Amino acid sequence: MSHSNQTSRGGLISGRRAFLAVAAGGAAAAAVPSIARASAILSRASGPAGPDWTALAHDLAGTLVRPGDAAYATARLLFDPRFDGQRPAGIAYVKNDHDVATCLAFVRKYKIPVAARSGGHSYAGWSGTSGLIIDVSDLKGVRMSGTSAIVGAGTRLIDFYNGLDSRGRAVPGGSCPTVGIAGLTLGGGIGVTARAHGLTCDNLEAVEIVTASGAVLTASATEHSDLYWACRGGGGGNFGVATWFTFKTTPAPTPVIFFLSWPWSQAAGVVAAWQSWAPHAPDALWSNLHLAAVPGGSVPTVEVGGTYLGSIGGAANLLDELYAKIGSHPSGYFLNQVSYLNAMLVEAGCSSIGVQACHLPWYTAGGQLSRQPQFAKSDYFTKPLSSAGISTLLHGIEAMQGVSGAVGGVGGIAFDALGGAVNRVAPGATAFVHRNALFGAQYTTDWTAGAATAGINRQHTWLRDYWSSMRPYASGQAYQNYIDPDLTNWRQAYYGANYPRLVAVKRAYDPSGIFTFPQAL
Ligand SMILES: Cc1cc2nc3c(=O)[nH]c(=O)nc-3n(C[C@H](O)[C@H](O)[C@H](O)COP(=O)(O)OP(=O)(O)OC[C@H]3O[C@@H](n4cnc5c(N)ncnc54)[C@H](O)[C@@H]3O)c2cc1C
Repeated sequence: MSHSNQTSRGGLISGRRAFLAVAAGGAAAAAVPSIARASAILSRASGPAGPDWTALAHDLAGTLVRPGDAAYATARLLFDPRFDGQRPAGIAYVKNDHDVATCLAFVRKYKIPVAARSGGHSYAGWSGTSGLIIDVSDLKGVRMSGTSAIVGAGTRLIDFYNGLDSRGRAVPGGSCPTVGIAGLTLGGGIGVTARAHGLTCDNLEAVEIVTASGAVLTASATEHSDLYWACRGGGGGNFGVATWFTFKTTPAPTPVIFFLSWPWSQAAGVVAAWQSWAPHAPDALWSNLHLAAVPGGSVPTVEVGGTYLGSIGGAANLLDELYAKIGSHPSGYFLNQVSYLNAMLVEAGCSSIGVQACHLPWYTAGGQLSRQPQFAKSDYFTKPLSSAGISTLLHGIEAMQGVSGAVGGVGGIAFDALGGAVNRVAPGATAFVHRNALFGAQYTTDWTAGAATAGINRQHTWLRDYWSSMRPYASGQAYQNYIDPDLTNWRQAYYGANYPRLVAVKRAYDPSGIFTFPQAL
């Protein structure tokens, strides 16, 4: 079901109408600053005892879903079924900044935990809470202002690309179609045009954000510039609830996309060649390197994928350089030039189903995607892997074959080439500090939802052991968007030298720590 069509959720229409009647005066009421209106509403709605959820529901233009409501069964879910045990006290599908301010006044008044939620892909489940989820899904869509795109914070990535492509424009972003633009942008945003055009956060011109006090601010290079700095890589859920983002756009490219594979027996040579090629290629070329194995499987896989913002011939020439370094052509080969939207559909795994179906079923009618359980960890590498490093890397993948894993189990590592535009930004220029790596890496292990716990746990142990084995070779930095509850030194790993400045911004905009989770600033 579309969130924009959820007016019947929880049978709250009459409640919303009641609030709208109270707020009548229409334009005059709308002109009252959000924080003042929210306070007035709450003082009217306050009760002597516990949180007055009914009053909150009445006071929102959007919908509040509570336990017992028909919509609760899906409204409480995050992307990863690992977090299906979470039972939030309420999920507010906010319609505007005023709704956000109303929710924040409510949680302040009743001291209720709160979390902002966009696409719900937090690897630690930290867009969920036992308290109130402020879900921005209804703040969605892309509209243009000149060559800038104004994007609702709840926009899913596939809709982001679709909305941009229909205007012939592009902004760098990630590949997962159901990831929300808010979480992606606030923590960085790595995707297939990053080496040419930077991270998603590097293209952020302004963000509209409701801070802990309920103030509605626009943060940009000229207004609240400290908050703007922090919102470019400081991580979601720390400073306020972002409602709208303004991005710089570029003309939509017609990328060449490629997928190549080699036999596992050549994996060491492929890794050695890729790491000396991919981070140093022209900015127009982006690529990743993916190694994977299944528990009990026979042979692991080694694949190189990527995009080139140029001609097919130009891509082929660059790939020839890779083959020369490896000493062989790939055994599997796909190369094609497609529209920007089609490239993003391919990256999303949706090329055969199209945009409409490239959603979760309860987000959009006709959505065909399903949720995927996964554990993940990350690294950055600032030096090429030595031969010992490559050996450890391959051994870790091969070790997955010996794991007694879960149904549908798989484990792997994906390296994303960096350099180019990502590394031309100074580490302190935005909150995203990782500006000197050759490549980033994500270690993952997946299984079929509902698989037995013992096998899942063994895959999780494999993941941790694999990541540990790579300590001598990695930089010690980690990607804040691959948020990792295992990390004890997360402050340094995510933020490095930017951490003290981020803490200062946090103190300025959320002095009492309304927005908190285990790795919150
Ligand atoms: C399958 C998968 C694929 C991925 N692929 C990529 C990729 O290609 N590139 C990449 O860079 N990353 C990728 N990621 C990581 C992704 O960028 C992060 O998980 C990101 O935080 C998800 O954003 P979200 O809005 O979907 O998640 P959410 O869980 O909704 O939010 C993540 C964090 O941001 C906070 N937040 C959410 N909305 C707001 C808001 N409006 N204002 C303030 N804070 C908010 C939440 O409270 C939470 O702390 C992927 C993740 C998954 C699970």
